[in-house]
Amino acid sequence: MGSTTDSQLRIVIVGGGIGGLTAAIALRGPNRHITVLERSRMLHEVGALISLQPNASKLVTQWGLDPFLAGARPLADRGFRLFDKTGKVVTEVPLHTERFGSDRVLYHRQDLHAGLREAAVSTSLPGSPVIIRTAAGVVACDAERGIVTLANGEQVQGDLVVGADGIKSVVRSAVLGDEDAAKHVPIPTGLSAYRVLMPLSLLEAVPDLPLSVSTWEPAITSMVVGGDRRVIMGPGRGGELYGMVALVPDPPVDNDKRAEEEDNSWVRPGSKAELQAAYEGFPQWLLDIFGTAPDADIGLWQLRDLDPLPRWSRGRTIIIGDAAHAMLPTQGQGASQSMEDAEALAAFLADYTESKPSEEQLLAALQKVWEARYERVSLIQAYSRQQAKPATDAGSNKVTLNPGEFLAYNCDYNGAVDWLARQKKSKA
Ligand SMILES: Cc1cc2nc3c(=O)[nH]c(=O)nc-3n(C[C@H](O)[C@H](O)[C@H](O)COP(=O)(O)OP(=O)(O)OC[C@H]3O[C@@H](n4cnc5c(N)ncnc54)[C@H](O)[C@@H]3O)c2cc1C
Repeated sequence: MGSTTDSQLRIVIVGGGIGGLTAAIALRGPNRHITVLERSRMLHEVGALISLQPNASKLVTQWGLDPFLAGARPLADRGFRLFDKTGKVVTEVPLHTERFGSDRVLYHRQDLHAGLREAAVSTSLPGSPVIIRTAAGVVACDAERGIVTLANGEQVQGDLVVGADGIKSVVRSAVLGDEDAAKHVPIPTGLSAYRVLMPLSLLEAVPDLPLSVSTWEPAITSMVVGGDRRVIMGPGRGGELYGMVALVPDPPVDNDKRAEEEDNSWVRPGSKAELQAAYEGFPQWLLDIFGTAPDADIGLWQLRDLDPLPRWSRGRTIIIGDAAHAMLPTQGQGASQSMEDAEALAAFLADYTESKPSEEQLLAALQKVWEARYERVSLIQAYSRQQAKPATDAGSNKVTLNPGEFLAYNCDYNGAVDWLARQKKSKA
């Protein structure tokens, strides 16, 4: 681990996912010593597509990350096209750069993660490169003092600890304390998601496929909805890949397997036959797309989220991303919100580059992050639950889901300082 000096702000980030890596990048600057502690070996980011919404892709550019992500062949999404269960187009929501100052951008998760990792350790961004330690799982945290303990017993101390350790966060428990931690556990939402990733070229074999589904220039996100089922799908990696997320009610779990699922990551391999059965009665071309997917590339995620927490920080420690506000993926805002958290942390600590903040100044900065972020993120969590409701009227095929409903609130965003000012003005 690189040596530190007394004048440096030592930042320890637990978790090297999108939240942790972007926090590390955003916080880089003079007199900062940043370490990311990641439990895994960082070899197995999920094989699925992910969209960054305009509120987050704006940050990609602001942080100078475009060159690091160019190899990921990001695709700018030009809108949503909604099909009903009969295969008829019922709504279109166009997206264009001018609307929110940036695009909704589609990536392969592994490419996005690799680009962020490269940026974090690069010498061409401000400040010193971030130190990333893999196979460094944190098992305990003294939030007040900013000390984390690794599985091998080693202790790492920071002036600031950022818990970006995902929905099953260890740091969250330390921040909340035992009583609140027991009350705020991830909640099964009753929904699961099949994730499918395949070469886009496989779609050529699907008869009667609407042209807009298979083209990637321009890239369009297609949604096929009916009752409590919906599929969100589109191209990725410069048109090489095609990704799908298909929501279904939680499949029943055998009682003898329940404990095992609790311990595991709530993920299991999905089967093509199960997926096709869940979408019986949907357009044949949709079932045919499922049919062309290689079995090995189908996974089933049980979806859980969190209720808004009573606090995100204690002493020198703050939680961000899914650790603080895991949400349903129905608006594709989870990772984007973790990036907003990263921006907020950096913005409220921006004054402390010549010398490090006193404890009082640090706590005041963490309080500002809460003030700027809590109401917004809690609302986006609630909107994500609302967007998960059945997409059609009960008993009819009339589509009530509007994928554009919360777009303006979610995407019209220019950083935490601006948001706090807008909030104060609107409440004055
Ligand atoms: C089906 C599905 C589709 C989605 N689609 C989108 C989308 O299109 N757009 C979007 O913005 N979001 C989407 N999301 C949500 C998004 O994936 C998450 O919100 C986002 O990945 C959260 O990032 P994070 O860094 O907070 O947590 P994570 O990605 O969970 O990262 C946490 C990291 O911490 C590490 N870690 C965990 N515990 C420890 C420990 N004790 N010590 C050290 N390291 C630890 C983990 O190994 C991991 O690397 C989707 C989610 C799902 C389930």
